[in-house]
Amino acid sequence: MNPFRERANPWVAGLGVYEPGKPIEEVARELGLPDPEAIVKLASNENALGPSPRAVRAMRRAARQMHLYPDGGAFRLRHRLAEILNLRPEELCFGAGSNELIEFIAHVFLGPSSSIVMADRAFVVYKLIAAMFGAETISVPMRDFTHDLDAMRQAIRPDTRLVFVANPNNPTGTMVENDALTRFVESLPDHVVAVLDEAYIELLPPERQPDSLRWVREGRPVIVLRTFSKTYGLAGLRIGYAAAPPEGIRLLERVRQPFNTSAMAQEAALAALDDPRHVERTRRMVRQGLRFFERACRTMNLPYVPSVANFLLVRTGRGREIFERMQREGVIVRPMDPYGLPDYIRITVGRPAENRRCAEALKKALLFS
Ligand SMILES: *Cc1c(COP(=O)(O)O)cnc(C)c1O
Repeated sequence: MNPFRERANPWVAGLGVYEPGKPIEEVARELGLPDPEAIVKLASNENALGPSPRAVRAMRRAARQMHLYPDGGAFRLRHRLAEILNLRPEELCFGAGSNELIEFIAHVFLGPSSSIVMADRAFVVYKLIAAMFGAETISVPMRDFTHDLDAMRQAIRPDTRLVFVANPNNPTGTMVENDALTRFVESLPDHVVAVLDEAYIELLPPERQPDSLRWVREGRPVIVLRTFSKTYGLAGLRIGYAAAPPEGIRLLERVRQPFNTSAMAQEAALAALDDPRHVERTRRMVRQGLRFFERACRTMNLPYVPSVANFLLVRTGRGREIFERMQREGVIVRPMDPYGLPDYIRITVGRPAENRRCAEALKKALLFS
């Protein structure tokens, strides 16, 4: 008899565990490599350029104030972001990464005898969090590795509360365009809230970014999630935000702990917002890196899914084995069996030298598999 398990909520005791990308130091320890610097990590879609230098300066300045609790309402960040996005300050809520906001959304909307709709190859965190709250996940097959929005709308049941669209999606790197998304959002039944997860949106040139915030301004039941973890290079700090009509934000605020985002994170995010050149440099690096990996895949005869994000889904065959062999060469990528894609790995785009090392490790891994 396990006294903990017997007392646990039954839907929690049976949960699966999310397998995150491994930290560099852990891999170095496992491989007995003395120098963590020798390891290339292209596993978690981080920004290989690092944070904006402005954000680093802001963090240095903020360090001296770390004896004080943060501003729980994130006043300055909220107002600056509202100004940039043309939203009202009361249309924003901040979280320790957008993952925390997904959890807030689940607190508000999910419980046993409710369901979510998502695509079968979309970001796995949605179904893991739904399971945490005892909600059922309705998985809708993708078409050509892209959200099939018509099928997703049809899959909505009376007990469905949330429908998730990751745009662009991780791990496929695909997106749905503005027109298709508009038809989808505007045809949703009244009893569901659409969650549009735009973790990679800033990597798209502005003219290709769907205008999802207009639904927030119009007061539709839409929550847009964004993060400073990816394009802004601040994954270690944990800060992201939700944009939604004020009635939605007020609900999210009820389940938020008062000091969930750190003062350091708020300062860095604020500084990062005012460094558009860093975003531009990041876009350029990602564009060139994607081209490099696409060429490398063609040379190795490996099919891949064309990506608009900062990673590439590659069909290597036996993804976990390839991942392990590459790791022995000091290159960390991500095996895709947790996504039901055992023949694939996902490679994050890094700086040119990292990309070259990754391609070499992949080539070597293929030779032995
Ligand atoms: C990385 C990622 C996130 C969130 O990351 P946070 O660090 O928690 O902000 C959310 N959605 C998708 C699709 C992602 O790839």
